Amino acid sequence: MATIKAIEGRSVHQIQSGQVIVDLCSVAKELVENCLDAGATSIEVRFKNNGLDSIEVQDNGAGISPADYDTIALKHYTSKLSTYDDLTSLQTFGFRGEALSSLCALSKFHIITAQAADGAKGTKLEFEVSGKLKGTSVVAAKQGTTVVVETLFNNLPVRRKELEKSIKREYNKVLHLLNAYACISTGVKLSVSNQVPKGKKTIAFSTNHNPNTKENIANVYGTKTLLALIPLNLKFEMEASTRPGATQSAEDACSREIRIVGHISRPVVGEGRQTPDRQMFFVNSRPCNMPQLAKAFNEVYKSYNVTQSPFIFADLKLDTNAYDVNVSPDKRTILLHDQTALLESLKTALGDLFAMHDQSVPQAQL
Ligand code: ADP
Ligand code: MG
Repeated sequence: MATIKAIEGRSVHQIQSGQVIVDLCSVAKELVENCLDAGATSIEVRFKNNGLDSIEVQDNGAGISPADYDTIALKHYTSKLSTYDDLTSLQTFGFRGEALSSLCALSKFHIITAQAADGAKGTKLEFEVSGKLKGTSVVAAKQGTTVVVETLFNNLPVRRKELEKSIKREYNKVLHLLNAYACISTGVKLSVSNQVPKGKKTIAFSTNHNPNTKENIANVYGTKTLLALIPLNLKFEMEASTRPGATQSAEDACSREIRIVGHISRPVVGEGRQTPDRQMFFVNSRPCNMPQLAKAFNEVYKSYNVTQSPFIFADLKLDTNAYDVNVSPDKRTILLHDQTALLESLKTALGDLFAMHDQSVPQAQL
């Protein structure tokens, strides 16, 4: 008798959802990315009880068309990608169509949305655990979308308990992540608040439609932070010999140029930070985890300031053929083509930059 059978659909959904939404950070990340993808210029993230009771994300983006209500929370339904080949020309954060469907499986979840033509009328959408639309009702709403996630992991007792236990740490982690989205998103107002039980609502931070990342950093970390920063503007060519099989076509030549832009602490003792807690990395403006890159930055900085760590805001401008974002469901792990060579070139360029600023006088840069 055959012992191998397909896992029943509902169970597959739950297994996979737990991989997309692994913690509080994944919820905030997925929802804020959806707002940015919808063209929002104003995003409010509201935590209740550090996120344990609820996370609400409201935007003033395009809203959701009634024609999409039925499919919006179904797995692998997305407005952003239709074939695998589209991945290299992708301009959006999302493309897997998994976040909303996963949240249906893992929390008490609803959406309120209104498009420009809807006036002050919006629609509340409620869903089954499977992501199937359960019902709609008319509510008052401005243009945009509000997604409400209550009692995250309510049906995964182990994860819920773990979340309750570590909620303070999780909340700090989520703030750190949202700092990165706030700093990179120019022209956007991103504000984050938290309401603790029986307490007042506190604003964690807020940006203000700033035209550049420097003003975003000032809003998030305070104007004083800027005093210790220098512009990061590195440009280098990858060695042709380090790319086996590389041809000398024009296309290849353009993909070999790497630019890293942003801001970094001056390499001066007293101007770094006690801990490496303010370090943000991006690939073409997408916030990513880049431990190897962080290590390279910190190593070079240490040769000037051994007692402290730098503030780093580094955005890698890469040809879309030079990396792969589809490595993990949360898309925060990026596979960089020829990473070893890139890190070596980066260290040299960074050493040159620090050598230039070694003795310079700090200046307010706003
Ligand atoms: P993905 O972002 O990968 O497409 P999601 O599950 O996050 O998958 O979202 C599914 C779809 O729902 C999106 O493709 C988008 O069309 C729509 N959507 C989600 N959030 C918003 C929002 N805040 N505003 C407008 N549309 C949204
Ligand atoms: Mg998404």
